[in-house]
Amino acid sequence: MGGRRFLAVVGLLILTVPLAAAVALRVARQPEAPRKPGTIVRTAPAPPPVDMAERFAVPVLMYHRIADLDERESRSPLMRDLTVSPADFESQVRYLAENGFTFLLARDVEQAVQEGHSLPRKAVAITMDDGYKDNFAQAFPILRKYGAVATIFLVSATVNTAGHLSWDDCLLMRRDRVGYGSHTVHHYELPSLTVAEMDYELRESKRAIESKVFDTVTAVAYPSGRYNRTVTERAEAAGYLAGWKKGGGPVQPGADMYLLPRVRVNGGESLKDFQRIVWSGMNLMRDRADAERHRSRLARRPQDIQGA
Ligand SMILES: [Zn+2]
Repeated sequence: MGGRRFLAVVGLLILTVPLAAAVALRVARQPEAPRKPGTIVRTAPAPPPVDMAERFAVPVLMYHRIADLDERESRSPLMRDLTVSPADFESQVRYLAENGFTFLLARDVEQAVQEGHSLPRKAVAITMDDGYKDNFAQAFPILRKYGAVATIFLVSATVNTAGHLSWDDCLLMRRDRVGYGSHTVHHYELPSLTVAEMDYELRESKRAIESKVFDTVTAVAYPSGRYNRTVTERAEAAGYLAGWKKGGGPVQPGADMYLLPRVRVNGGESLKDFQRIVWSGMNLMRDRADAERHRSRLARRPQDIQGA
């Protein structure tokens, strides 16, 4: 672009941006239509206040595919394990919504651990790995229906390929608060790579996803949950705030930022098993509080211990 044309474009922007803002303000300030006398104005009831916990315990759920298996797929134990049916997924998300769980993005949990601030006591984060097309076609409508949010860990080289999300799908979902993380470029197991290859997988996926979804990628989910000391160090050096592994129960304050735990939801899991997972955080907080009460009772009455 020539210097003169560049200046003209900048000038045009300087003129149009305040104009657009003024128009938006005017639209917002337009008076409401006059109401008939005696009309009762109902305002939506305020949502109940969310009970916050400084010492939270949040289960971060890890999904892969949300789909019905065809006959060939259903013969594969691996596929059955990776795939939750849309009907099961809907009953799980409905259960969370109806039981008052707050849906968090992975990023919300990362920030709370890093900055040491509180999170809702009854909360859960949904994550989906690998970026399958069904995350958009099957899972997304269910998430929207129940006002749930989720984080998708994308394998950047497979986006826009058969069976996977397109960048357009990602942008569309982003408008409804779907967040994104990296699941590397090629889904190689990171500990098996040289440091240079590892750096490429971590940095290039972050760069590619950020340039396509216009959002900062704060975390990497290690492919197949495999990591070692070099992997976590290189993830930090690549600019990630956090790394997600596999297993380890709910996320609690003080967790290692590069070894944040997730709980896998497998295909064919009963709603009862699912409930056990999602209440694990609340149960942990309750047990911790019980233990503390017990300890402080003992500390206050030493004579009782002797007499016991
Ligand atoms: Zn994966």
